[in-house]
Amino acid sequence: MTAQATYEFKAEIKQLLDILVHSLYTEREIFLRELVSNASDALDKLRITAAAPKSSGAGEGETDEANETDDAPLEIRIEADKDAKTLTIADNGIGMTEAELVENIGTIAHSGSASFLRALKESGGPNGQTADGIIGRFGVGFYSVYMVAQSVRITTRSHREDAQPVEWISDGQGSYTIRELTGTEALAVPRGTKIELTLKDDQAAEFTEPDDLRQVIRKHSNFIGFPILVGGERANTVPALWREPKFQITKDQYKEFYTFLTYDHDEPLDTLHLSVDAPVQFNALCFIPKKSKDFMGFDREDWGLDLYVRRVLIQRQNKDLIPQHLMFVRGVVDTEDLPLNISRETLQDNLLIRKINTTLAKQVLAHLAKMAEDKDRYAEFWREHSRVFKAGYMDFANREAFAGLLRFNSSSSADAGELVSFDDYISRAKPDQKKIYFAYGPSREALKLNPHLEIFRKKGVEVLYLFEPIDEFVMDALRAHKDFALTPAEMAKPEDLASLPDVDAANATDNADQAAPEMDALDALFARFKTVLGDAVTEVRASARLTGSPCCLMNPDGHTTSSMDKIMRSMSHDNSVPKKVLELNPKHELIRNLAALNQADPADPFVEQAARQLFESALLLEGYLTDPHALVGRIQDLLAKSSGWYAKAK
Ligand code: ADP
Repeated sequence: MTAQATYEFKAEIKQLLDILVHSLYTEREIFLRELVSNASDALDKLRITAAAPKSSGAGEGETDEANETDDAPLEIRIEADKDAKTLTIADNGIGMTEAELVENIGTIAHSGSASFLRALKESGGPNGQTADGIIGRFGVGFYSVYMVAQSVRITTRSHREDAQPVEWISDGQGSYTIRELTGTEALAVPRGTKIELTLKDDQAAEFTEPDDLRQVIRKHSNFIGFPILVGGERANTVPALWREPKFQITKDQYKEFYTFLTYDHDEPLDTLHLSVDAPVQFNALCFIPKKSKDFMGFDREDWGLDLYVRRVLIQRQNKDLIPQHLMFVRGVVDTEDLPLNISRETLQDNLLIRKINTTLAKQVLAHLAKMAEDKDRYAEFWREHSRVFKAGYMDFANREAFAGLLRFNSSSSADAGELVSFDDYISRAKPDQKKIYFAYGPSREALKLNPHLEIFRKKGVEVLYLFEPIDEFVMDALRAHKDFALTPAEMAKPEDLASLPDVDAANATDNADQAAPEMDALDALFARFKTVLGDAVTEVRASARLTGSPCCLMNPDGHTTSSMDKIMRSMSHDNSVPKKVLELNPKHELIRNLAALNQADPADPFVEQAARQLFESALLLEGYLTDPHALVGRIQDLLAKSSGWYAKAK
């Protein structure tokens, strides 16, 4: 067939073109992405065909003769002519035969334009976003060219040996012409496809400037695997490393890519290069930066992974691809399982994206577990990213793995820098110890002096130190690790620890060897304290947990820790001072003296003063004393008196 033939587009296609041109894409420049992707696919197809061993069973005429003589590099060339208002996109890929051209370009989408329009109607009409969502399921990318072109000419020559070049022309208004090229016309057409756009007058300025075109290419098609030359100059400069086999990539290449992605010129702390086939196909190249971007809560929105479909950027910083507590991970995900023109609306709540998210979460945790084998490196990670990471306590599916990655400073650490895992703790636990104890405090120094921890120090039982409010939520949510219950130290039952031998009896700084006063004298002292303090405390009782301090406060309910209580109160703007149990240490010298004084004179004012002083000191330690005046006044009064006694004694 040499004659020119004119074909009408099917009726639905006319409507469809109208929708496409007027309401589909918000960014007109997208047409270039579509054409470049088609060209890249055509080059890929050629490469695959050329690489495939020729099947001996192939029928006659079916043999794919990849143009072996033509060993010009596979590439995409874009040329613009400002004066002629034309733009040309050419590839030396697989090309099309006349039949293929009619089938692929003449008929919209193999999935069928009729069903496309039906879906469109059902969704409420050809209205911007809705249409955009549906279009993702149909291959109509080529037609986006009519957003900017008033007419399009395609010339193409299939890679097949006997293929005649063909020309296709259409203004996108309802018909197209197609003819086989012969003679000199045919000789001028090399293997591959050339698409020439005559731009609409108002689009010409925007799409004929090579620098602008290169920018559009870099924005949407930077990682296309073949060179894209605009006016002879390569526009896509960075290879899509994530699609390359790991062993071929050097450290420098990873670093270069990381810098390209994050603008961070430092090396990444770690690199995670994945190729996953099930339950969903995707490649990912992810990095853990050395420095957290989360300092002081800045840049809270600056996270997410860039989503690519077959090397084409679909969305930057997609936040559905990875859980928020792994927001420190930077990188790209590329999947073949999504259509190229999927819309952002369709991406949200997309099952496939969720599957990638779950798979990635698992992979990142497994990767961190490996990284943790190198303590120093993991400490570096922990220092920077743990604040974000700890929010993972809400990820129930990965709880075990998450818990294994937690690190704490502890009473057994040599210094503030030494980190301890739950497993470290368990490996050092006392023979019958079935609990992991922890305590919250503002600093290591404060915790070392915390009265609640005295018995732990005495018995040599390790206590994990928590310094950040979120740590409490983590412990509260996890409840246990392996079969060790996570237990706040202040909630520990003294009897659980009492039977353990003391660590270092000789060096004990406590009053353990002192005899407690008679029960009567003690009970009377407790009663006196309660009368003095009134409703400020719920109860005054003897403590079995104190060794060095005279007193401490306990939460009456027995399950909320004082720090959690404080967090809850500050969240509900409650400034009142909670009512607590005051525990006194009967073996402490001060308490013994007070018991004796009280026994001798149940109205002794010194006992009353001491009761208030001890209570307020305990409040001060817990951070609840808002007005220190009375406390300070009393201290000065006591100092005045004691200095008098001291002077006399001297
Ligand atoms: P999609 O790419 O989503 O299939 P398009 O409308 O963009 O939809 O393209 C339709 C078909 O036309 C492609 O699947 C391909 O077979 C063919 N095609 C488009 N551009 C080229 C090209 N440059 N070279 C070879 N074939 C092409």
